[in-house]
Amino acid sequence: MVLADSPSGPAAAASPAGSEAWSSADGAALYGLDSWGDPYFSAGARGHVMVQPRGDRGGALDLVELVRELLGRDLSLPLLIRFDDILEDRLERLHGAFERAIAQYGYDGRYQGVFPVKCNQQRHVVEQLVESGRRWHFGLEAGSKAELLIALSLLDDPEALLICNGYKDRRYIETAILARRLGRQPVVVIEQPDEVAPIIAASSSLGAAPFIGIRAKLSARSTGRWGSSVGERAKFGLSIPDLLTTVEQLRQAGLLSDLRLLHFHIGSQINDIAVLKDALQEAGQIYAELTRLGAPMGFLDVGGGLGIDYDGSRTASAASTNYSLQNYANDVVATIRECCEPHGIRPPTLVSESGRALASHFSVLVFDVLGASGRSDGVPPAADGEALILRNLRDTHAAVEAVAAATLSDGDEPDMRGVVERLQEAWNDALKFKEDALNAFRLGYLSLPERATAERLTWASCQAIARQLDQLPPGTVIPQELQALAAALAGTYYANLSVFRSAPDTWAIDQLFPVLPIHRLDERPTRLGSFADLTCDSDGKIARFIDRGQVKPLLELHGLRPGEPYWIGLFLGGAYQEVMGNLHNLFGSTNAVHIRLAAGGGYRIDHVVKGNTNAEVLEAMEHDPDLLLERLRQASEQAIGRGDLAISDARRLMAHLRASLEQTTYLEA
Ligand SMILES: *Cc1c(COP(=O)(O)O)cnc(C)c1O
Repeated sequence: MVLADSPSGPAAAASPAGSEAWSSADGAALYGLDSWGDPYFSAGARGHVMVQPRGDRGGALDLVELVRELLGRDLSLPLLIRFDDILEDRLERLHGAFERAIAQYGYDGRYQGVFPVKCNQQRHVVEQLVESGRRWHFGLEAGSKAELLIALSLLDDPEALLICNGYKDRRYIETAILARRLGRQPVVVIEQPDEVAPIIAASSSLGAAPFIGIRAKLSARSTGRWGSSVGERAKFGLSIPDLLTTVEQLRQAGLLSDLRLLHFHIGSQINDIAVLKDALQEAGQIYAELTRLGAPMGFLDVGGGLGIDYDGSRTASAASTNYSLQNYANDVVATIRECCEPHGIRPPTLVSESGRALASHFSVLVFDVLGASGRSDGVPPAADGEALILRNLRDTHAAVEAVAAATLSDGDEPDMRGVVERLQEAWNDALKFKEDALNAFRLGYLSLPERATAERLTWASCQAIARQLDQLPPGTVIPQELQALAAALAGTYYANLSVFRSAPDTWAIDQLFPVLPIHRLDERPTRLGSFADLTCDSDGKIARFIDRGQVKPLLELHGLRPGEPYWIGLFLGGAYQEVMGNLHNLFGSTNAVHIRLAAGGGYRIDHVVKGNTNAEVLEAMEHDPDLLLERLRQASEQAIGRGDLAISDARRLMAHLRASLEQTTYLEA
């Protein structure tokens, strides 16, 4: 397969719109690469997406070349590419931001973060974070017993924190207490009033206590999707009366000296920094109060919520944030300092559980397009004695082309209003004649081939009108009806992926991710389209795209070229998507690779994680692949016996079945 990415390719030259200058920079601007992509993704001179895995510290990889080489190694699309350098760079940026804020505000304390494992539990990801985070004693946060097992086994730094959140039974609590004897630093966070009694009981029976934290229910309200994570009716956290009762219970049990941490979490993807400030002030006061009540404290955990600017708009809209990483760190540090100073309280070690902010950038999902709907193949040649309806459509198409000729040959200032009126008239005619053609077909006056010709002529007219509109000077007033034309011409691009598996939040919570072709950025896109996935579910689509603080239903895309792949990247999906993804229609996990920038340029592949095979997804539903094969073998023996199936065909059928079981669940190239 050869990828032609030069703008002078035959298809580009044939398209009138493509003849206008269009550079990689235009492509980058169109898809917002230069805003949300900064500093990891950009457009290269050849129209390919470039990856700078170490941010602005140098080194770049051509994503298209990389994919091509990975395919050469027998990996197939869809492919999840994890850039571990990006993960490391995000960690550095997070710590750098807090270090700068601490220096700037003269904060007499430290920052010590943890990674919430629920964000991405993949072994290589958690291992990488623990390894890269060692120099800052970066820790982990667990929200369930299974996550606690991961955190306990992977986190071996005695100074790193292991924050234990989520619902806890006696075994969870005792495990955490005993882990302290292994030399770990587990902090059991009391999230519900009824967790206090089992913690006290477990501590007294084991003769040892864990470090204890308390999660407060704040009244500060977050906006957006996770706004209900806070407030009186939040699922987790202690109300102020419960918090005071808990302190008394711990005091009576002799455990107050183990109360070390105050925790809050006001929901993921905080869009508006004003909300965070309110929460910080409230938490700062509660922290001060707890020290006054006699708890040693020492840690303030501000939870997750640090957001990602998915659309690059830097606004408080759902897919963005109106603050930077540095703004966030500054606000945390400055606000907590302001709360502690007047009370003469020693500033706590600041903890954050930033998951989305660390893990979103590092993985890129690349999938291929299998085909597109709504392609017109130009104007079909006229037949002798063509039906009147078809001739009408041909005339309409000719009228549109004539508008072009008129404006171009006109020496004087062209009459733009006149042009728009003629285009609108042609559009109305095309719609009317198409309707006529449909009616004629229904009544039996038009054959199926004639109806096909009518549809192709309508398409050709619409495309010609769209091209004309494109070339009108900016500011020309376009009537509403004609604005709908682009959408009417939009195509469906069939994507070799399952959104339920690979980008479930696009379906579940209307999350936006940047989606764009990873090549041909130096070629003007000539079509509008959306993506349909492989599942037999009409919800299996990507039809909402970033648009600088807005959402658009259609994305600018390129026409497909025969024999050439069209590769699409879905970016910023490293957090939550893998674990939330499901087996709808039995599409399993995709292949995944871990890429590291190599010292002398180039890259190395650290891990290859093969995607689920069909046998694996069948087993997940309790089917036995061997049994399935055996049943089909018996059925083919019977068919051979009846003389319905040749032995050679039976062998071929069994070979296909066996091969399918061993292969990934996606379409083979
Ligand atoms: C989910 C969660 C996080 C992570 O939130 P992000 O917005 O991804 O940073 C942190 N802490 C708690 C308690 C959570 O439930």
